[in-house]
Amino acid sequence: MLKRQSLIVANWKMNGSLDSIRRLVGAIVPGIKDVPGEVLICPPFVYIAELVKLLEKTTIRLGAQNVSQMESGAFTGEIAPPMLKDLACEYVIVGHSERRMLYNESATQIARKFVAVQASGIIPILCVGELLEDRNARGTEAVIAKQLDTVIEVAGIKAFRQAVIAYEPVWAIGTGKTALPEQAQEVHEFIRLRLARHDHKTADSVRIIYGGSIKADNAEQLFELADVDGGLIGGASLVAKEFLAICHSVR
Ligand code: PEP
Repeated sequence: MLKRQSLIVANWKMNGSLDSIRRLVGAIVPGIKDVPGEVLICPPFVYIAELVKLLEKTTIRLGAQNVSQMESGAFTGEIAPPMLKDLACEYVIVGHSERRMLYNESATQIARKFVAVQASGIIPILCVGELLEDRNARGTEAVIAKQLDTVIEVAGIKAFRQAVIAYEPVWAIGTGKTALPEQAQEVHEFIRLRLARHDHKTADSVRIIYGGSIKADNAEQLFELADVDGGLIGGASLVAKEFLAICHSVR
């Protein structure tokens, strides 16, 4: 089995001010040195340029929370992948459940974003996850399979060699209800097997991170699972002490 490098992602969502992000980064940077694997911060678009400066000479990587599938043109208010590349973004989150639900992003649109991001040399972090109703109706696997298959059809399986998948059960995001370790492992293993139907090597190498109410006191038990390669952290990434403790839970 391949050894996969861990990845911890801070998704700040629409939070912070110039002043507060400076203080937050100032408190995170000194504590991040011995963390194994990669640590990534995805701030709101308007703070990316500031983060480029703040993260200079650190090992922390920079990403974005969303992107357009278009390369340029008359799309008022949108941000294109080459613009993120210009600002040294290495990763972009695509298909977060808040984008799927609040902004009606379709599976096909998300797949196009995935392709556009890779075409600009940026690594997409594809979010997948089921609603509570899906889980209660034993529909988790069907939902995840559909979300994955749409991207596989549009981008091709080999595209996942330059991608990260985030399993984020929607019922766990921002709710304080984390998936039990056995629930997380079951879905992560399912995702890997779904990819392995097309290509074993890709399935084995792709990083699958978990997101949904990760906190300092539940991170370690999630990160030690066989198919969990890190975490996508929302609320807890806004508190330096909590975020650092999560980062240090990686073995
Ligand atoms: C998220 O925004 O992807 C997320 C996992 O949020 P939280 O950690 O707050 O549940």
